[in-house]
Amino acid sequence: MAKDQLMAYEQAIEQFEVVIGLEVHVELNTKSKMFCGCANVFGSEPNTNVCPTCIGLPGSLPAVNKKAVENSIAIGLALGCQIAPTGRFARKNYFYPDLAKNFQTSQYDEPIAFEGRVEIELEDGEKFEVLIERAHMEEDAGKLTHVGGSTGRIQGAEYSLVDYNRAGVPLVEIVTKPVFGAGARAPELAAAYVRAIRDMVKAMNVSDARMERGNVRCDANVSLRPKGQEKLGTRTETKNVNSIRSVENAVRYEIQRQAYILAGGGSITQETRHWHEDRGHTSAGRPKSDADDYRYFPEPDLVPVQPAAEWIEQIRATLPENPALRRKRLQGEWGFSDLEFRDVVNADLLDLIEATVAAGAQPQAARKWWSGELSRLANAQGVSPFELVISPEQVAQIQQLIDAGDLTDRMAREVVAGVLAGEGEPAEVIEKRGLKVVTDEGALVAAIDAALAQQPDVMEKIREGKVQAAGAVIGAVMKAMGGQADAARVRELILERAK
Ligand SMILES: [Zn+2]
Repeated sequence: MAKDQLMAYEQAIEQFEVVIGLEVHVELNTKSKMFCGCANVFGSEPNTNVCPTCIGLPGSLPAVNKKAVENSIAIGLALGCQIAPTGRFARKNYFYPDLAKNFQTSQYDEPIAFEGRVEIELEDGEKFEVLIERAHMEEDAGKLTHVGGSTGRIQGAEYSLVDYNRAGVPLVEIVTKPVFGAGARAPELAAAYVRAIRDMVKAMNVSDARMERGNVRCDANVSLRPKGQEKLGTRTETKNVNSIRSVENAVRYEIQRQAYILAGGGSITQETRHWHEDRGHTSAGRPKSDADDYRYFPEPDLVPVQPAAEWIEQIRATLPENPALRRKRLQGEWGFSDLEFRDVVNADLLDLIEATVAAGAQPQAARKWWSGELSRLANAQGVSPFELVISPEQVAQIQQLIDAGDLTDRMAREVVAGVLAGEGEPAEVIEKRGLKVVTDEGALVAAIDAALAQQPDVMEKIREGKVQAAGAVIGAVMKAMGGQADAARVRELILERAK
């Protein structure tokens, strides 16, 4: 395939206005599927969580999963949407091997939630409002695996396998209105929006929200129009982008690709596209016109969903704190600077720090542990800080020992290493490794004497006011004591001696 020609990003933004539209699919984590009692679990043997309903055998009848409706209403409310007092399911007809019924049960002109808005904050604090057109319920399709080709796609494959375990898993599709005015920041905004939706459904516990498993995936629509032009340009829809970084990269790529074509007098084909993370580009999928005829018609086997106003209010009362408001509250409580707080948010450390503070550590100390030593150790192991086998409670215990003067920083790091190595609770590691701050003043004084004998001019310097000269002696004492001395006490003793 010929490589696409791209326009330099800054030049593209200079010449064109970018319009994006985002469709995010959220797989709900209900116990059972949307219209049958089959288990909704990831990773089972292929075709073991299936029944006549979800593989569309003649005569089978669907029934709506109440919990899935409840979760969909919760998502609608969290997006600031109105909830429809009545809404029907519709059949979206198309023929594809991963869709055994030959139609997808979805919602068409009567979505459960509509007309919402969310505020999105970029990494540097700039805010954008994204308007939500609708959030509707539907079912997922099965999973196809194409075997024998080099790319994992159907082209060149020898045969294809189909697994219907995912067929019928409840989905909520969230569709934005066209987003204008983000300019050069459109790719970042797209990524921040998907991150916000992921964080929201995770905080609400309505989805496992693991993008690498496809629990949250994004279709990104991008179009360009010359600045000043009213009419929207032709859009492309990059399908199933399943990481936040990929959303940003795919949108940026489409802007540069479309700008090059338009500037050369060409026209954009309205089509779906695929994002290839490994090669960093999109490729053409299938042409897609607005008039795609799915022959929607109301699902005759399901009654309309008519949530009572009282039920909607009960669901509203269970919503967790809005993630943006929670961040604002925590920053105020912890007193972190904007930069410190942004780093913590971007590294996804909020929950860990909150738990560590709740277990008794001071906020700044908790922050230093998680964004410093523990992030470094997690990185070295190739895992996320969440996956380290040390709990926020254990980190708080270790910090309290530092605060009480029972551990030096170096010893504390050794305790952490011991906990991670499976040596038990912090107290057991301290016991086993013999980690104890030396409080025997006689031993400290002897070590100071020995160090001063090696560096006889230090006392004179301190008396002249050059207090920092004590550092070399402190270092020598700490070394002699195997790091188990309290450096602050050693410093005090040296300064007293200089008086
Ligand atoms: Zn089933």
